[in-house]
Amino acid sequence: MRLDKVLEQAQLGSKKVVKRLLVSRQVTVDGQVITRGSTNVDPGLQEVCVKGNKLKGQGHRYVMLNKPQGVVSAVTDKEHQTVIGLLGEDQKRTSLFPVGRLDRDTEGLLLITDNGKLAYQLAMATKKVVKRYEVRVNAEVTTYDQELVKHGIIFDDGYQCLPASLRILHSNSQESHLLLDITEGKFHQIKKMFLAMGKKVTYLKRLSMGPLVLDKQLAPGQWRELTPTELEKLL
Ligand code: URA
Repeated sequence: MRLDKVLEQAQLGSKKVVKRLLVSRQVTVDGQVITRGSTNVDPGLQEVCVKGNKLKGQGHRYVMLNKPQGVVSAVTDKEHQTVIGLLGEDQKRTSLFPVGRLDRDTEGLLLITDNGKLAYQLAMATKKVVKRYEVRVNAEVTTYDQELVKHGIIFDDGYQCLPASLRILHSNSQESHLLLDITEGKFHQIKKMFLAMGKKVTYLKRLSMGPLVLDKQLAPGQWRELTPTELEKLL
């Protein structure tokens, strides 16, 4: 990514301000003064400093993965391919790990980082933020079900879920296509919610997590570094 774009997206100011910072030799990349905005940098791997201060989140990697089905949200696994393995063989020796988890048969947005200190904060924050899922179930979903979700589904063990929001995109007696927004992330949360309503989830995909939205260009299994703007919103 061009250095001037990295600086602009880090909201350091207008194009003019960024240019001035560069020509006045106030920007370093991995300790070297860089004056050309067109210089290519990898904000995930290289350290960009302005006036001696690191840009927020610099020096770490933040990866957006469209997790495919069949892959586990883990660093290592004896039986199945892992999300870290998907990033490439060389990544296995880094300290990258997924923030939170999706079930093996769930697709969609997964954040991966090597920033251990921030991962805890991110995990805590992402527990509370709205997560949007595309859901398919094997039965009809009605406005009555929508009301149940709105009030908080009660699991068999008595646990009452936080109020959530369910949008019906399509529904008939055989199947339904839905959008579900939840703010918590218990183990098998969504599958259990629908089980409590007597329905089985047949497809699940996470579309967004707070301000972070799955990039539609990423096919299942593909990934990219977060842009500085995405990172700013998340941190
Ligand atoms: N809820 C589930 O049941 N599974 C997931 O992977 C995520 C949310």
